[in-house]
Amino acid sequence: MHPDDVLASLDDEQRAAVLAVSGPVCILAGAGTGKTRTITHRIAYAALTGAVQPEHVLAVTFTARAAGELRGRLRALGVERVQARTFHAAALRQLTYFWPRVVGGEVPSLVQSKFALVGNAAGRNRLSARGPELRDLVAEIEWAKARLVSPAAYEAAATALHREPPFPLESVAAVYATYEDLKQRGGNVDFDDLLMLTAAAIEDHEDVAEEVRRRYRQFVVDEYQDVSPLQQRLLDAWLGERTEVCVVGDDDQTIYSFTGASREYLLGFPSRYPAATVVRLVRDYRSTPQVVGLANRVLAGGKRLVAQRPEGPAPVYTQFDDEPAEAAWIARSAAALIAAGTPPHEIAVLYRVNAQSEVYEAALAAAGVPYLVRGGERYFDRPEVREAMLSLRVAARDVPSEVPLAEAVRGALGTVGWGPEEPAARAGAVRDRWEALTALVGLADEAASRPAPVPLAEFVAELEQRAADQHVPSVAGVTLASLHAAKGLEWDAVFLAGLTDGTLPITHAVTPEEVDEERRLLYVGVTRARSHVHLSWALARAAGGRRTRRVSRFLDGIVPAAARPAPKPKAASREAARDGLGPDEQALFDRLRDWRRERAAGLGQPAYCVFTDATLAAISKARPAGESELAGVPGVGGTKLDKFGAEVLAMVADS
Ligand code: ATP
Ligand code: MG
Repeated sequence: MHPDDVLASLDDEQRAAVLAVSGPVCILAGAGTGKTRTITHRIAYAALTGAVQPEHVLAVTFTARAAGELRGRLRALGVERVQARTFHAAALRQLTYFWPRVVGGEVPSLVQSKFALVGNAAGRNRLSARGPELRDLVAEIEWAKARLVSPAAYEAAATALHREPPFPLESVAAVYATYEDLKQRGGNVDFDDLLMLTAAAIEDHEDVAEEVRRRYRQFVVDEYQDVSPLQQRLLDAWLGERTEVCVVGDDDQTIYSFTGASREYLLGFPSRYPAATVVRLVRDYRSTPQVVGLANRVLAGGKRLVAQRPEGPAPVYTQFDDEPAEAAWIARSAAALIAAGTPPHEIAVLYRVNAQSEVYEAALAAAGVPYLVRGGERYFDRPEVREAMLSLRVAARDVPSEVPLAEAVRGALGTVGWGPEEPAARAGAVRDRWEALTALVGLADEAASRPAPVPLAEFVAELEQRAADQHVPSVAGVTLASLHAAKGLEWDAVFLAGLTDGTLPITHAVTPEEVDEERRLLYVGVTRARSHVHLSWALARAAGGRRTRRVSRFLDGIVPAAARPAPKPKAASREAARDGLGPDEQALFDRLRDWRRERAAGLGQPAYCVFTDATLAAISKARPAGESELAGVPGVGGTKLDKFGAEVLAMVADS
């Protein structure tokens, strides 16, 4: 690619940041304004003009996904060999390299279970910490380490910053000290130690510093508003006296303060580097005016984004009686979007806490909508993916190099049972397996479409790197993710679910600063959407539960009054399903519904996890006489057939 082509796809302000190829640069701008696009173009431009060697650039960000996104975008611009990693991955790599020389022997291994070790440390201090308390204790120790606060300094720092851990500050300090001690005696380190040890190796060893600084000469940090003092210390160690650093961020998207991050580094960058090129962007290229308008309202008093895209649908606000009803509606709406042509991977359901994912998973599965849970899945640990990797390694050795990459990969996956035809089932194990393997084919096609041909062996090495970074390819499916995990990403349609007061803001956010951070989470959520944004909440948790909740206070004055009365989607679906049936069929349908209620209660699951109303209506109509007929009814998959087939057939035969 020609450097001018890189410049051509940018606006004037973005171009100014790209043309500032040397010296400190700071881009301070709102969501969707092209910050990530600008840094990838800046790196590409500098590499293509020869201002910098790509291998001298280290781009860091906060999640493996985001690092993968950076690598992907750079590759698409024809730039390879740039290191784009998370802080942790970069530190681990450097440490592994320097450790034998600086300390000798192998790098200590990561603690296997931090929770167990902290629990043990608590026990030794006569504290019993379990469940949420243990989790908060672990989080508190992580906070202290991210802020470079030692056990001895913890009490003072925690008092000054109004921390409220679940135990007295002196107890936390004691547990923290014991944890460090136990960890050290076991010869282990944790993630935060990795950063600390790397920074210390550079700070204390002239030769290490020299080598690192010779290797990396340009630094780029995306999402810089969420940098912690510990990460900043590592960045400073990398830089030394140099100023070749470009940071980009949006202080309105600071969402990790609770883990010790601070936006002050971003906001203070221009005064720390008075010679810095500072760029502000306000044009939002991602979202429709409708989405941008909502984002601006959520952030009353924050930056004003100016939408660049054509008009789109208005945001949708919906209140439900209970969570299963909300989830069922989201699943149906997602299915409708897919039917209307939106690909599943362009849809996301975002929520505040990971525990919320379950009810949406159940509803999507019941509606036959494929999905994947971000952050939860260990894609490269799946048996079919391991098998596929094995087969690809063998192929890399045996398949002649003339065979085009895409063909070689399809061949290798063929040996583990992959085929190009979609399985008939829209959900379930067979489907999941096929989607997982198809994702590898997608990566191969992407690699094959690059300007320079990629040999199979190199492709396999890339996959192994991805596996090491836990950078999961996009499997075709609706994304389920926490708001925190959604940072930096974008989808055509976004469902923001469970927006009740107490979930967003979450109950434990009490100080004004904590509540503000929760508001920014909603802003992050809204600004992930290109065109469709659906906001919903439920008044009760379980079906039939007391409706004690209210909509998030952040939506006060935003939600139109008409969105408040709860629709009754369940009753509606029952009536609609029943209406199409004859009298005998209706009788069977009613009996099947009674059976389903009991069955679901026994399983502790929502009714639609057994069968949906539509499926029960179809069964009542079809009156299947045996398993194969029942299997032909839409909505009756293999698992359900195994689980419920006999009972359903008996009821049909009886009626
Ligand atoms: P976030 O704060 O959410 O991380 P961001 O500022 O990093 O957002 P990008 O992801 O870089 O924004 O860009 C948002 C979208 O707008 C992307 O799809 C990007 O390709 C597009 N975009 C950015 N700048 C331009 C431009 N000058 N012309 C066309 N499209 C653009
Ligand atoms: Mg970005």
